[in-house]
Amino acid sequence: MTKNPQPRADLHLHTIYSDSTLTPQDVINAAKAKDLACVAVTDHDTIDGYVPTLQAAEGCGIEVLAAAEFSSQLKKKTVHILGYLLDPNHVGLQNYLVDLKQRRIARMEEMIARLRKNGMEGITLEEVRAKAGIASVGRPHLAEVMVEKGLVKDRQTVFEKYLSDGSAAHVTGVFDEPYHVIELIRQAGGVPVLAHPMLPLVDERIPSFVEAGLGGLEVFYPNASDKISLYYEKIARKHGLIITGGSDAHGENRGWTHIGKVTVGMDVVEELKAKSTK
Ligand code: AMP
Ligand code: ZN
Ligand code: FE
Ligand code: FE
Repeated sequence: MTKNPQPRADLHLHTIYSDSTLTPQDVINAAKAKDLACVAVTDHDTIDGYVPTLQAAEGCGIEVLAAAEFSSQLKKKTVHILGYLLDPNHVGLQNYLVDLKQRRIARMEEMIARLRKNGMEGITLEEVRAKAGIASVGRPHLAEVMVEKGLVKDRQTVFEKYLSDGSAAHVTGVFDEPYHVIELIRQAGGVPVLAHPMLPLVDERIPSFVEAGLGGLEVFYPNASDKISLYYEKIARKHGLIITGGSDAHGENRGWTHIGKVTVGMDVVEELKAKSTK
């Protein structure tokens, strides 16, 4: 088999360490099938999937980047900040990730309490934590429990009615503002990148994120039109930001995308490395 002459990287994907059905081995198998040269594991608020994916990739020539997708908030809006090429041994980062696990559990307890007030009885924290297993507990695990219990017909309806930003059981004030997360990623040697800017629509904040140390913008994202990507590409160029992209694959938990659906050239990985201080 000839090697892909223009190697590509998928810089946004999840594993069973957050809310995807894909194991590290599944990720590497999919990356091999797509002839990718590099993947970044970007689980929500955890780097627990990094070492297992590195081990799964051993000997197959696929580079694995240490990364995470950090939760942050601006009032009711969730803003995701990707951190690339983090130093997994950075003590400040490790402490922050431990704290985030606790915050996510307390947040889940509060979401369950709010659901109860909205007539959704009988969900326990233990059930949702059991559903998450080794993963950092999140809204998708809660949604799955609600559907399994027959409380709501499907996951999409759960989000529309109860869990999406600003709806009945969505909890705010749990996560830090993006500025704090950007600073933390920098301290851990990483490069902070604003994830899927076409979702939270915080464009007016981008200059202040840049001032705080933002290094890149996720311009290429599944189902983003050429027009939207071009719009964000221009913003990225204006601020000297690295233009990144990725599939945001979550395995069977997100049918509309898959590993390798959106990729970037390895030159982007080189740019990230140049800005990382790990
Ligand atoms: P959490 O980390 O608990 O805030 O959960 C975030 C994840 O929930 C996202 O990565 C999506 O997988 C899922 N999610 C968030 N909002 C929605 C929505 N409106 N519809 C479907 N899934 C969503
Ligand atoms: Zn997710
Ligand atoms: Fe995200
Ligand atoms: Fe994601």
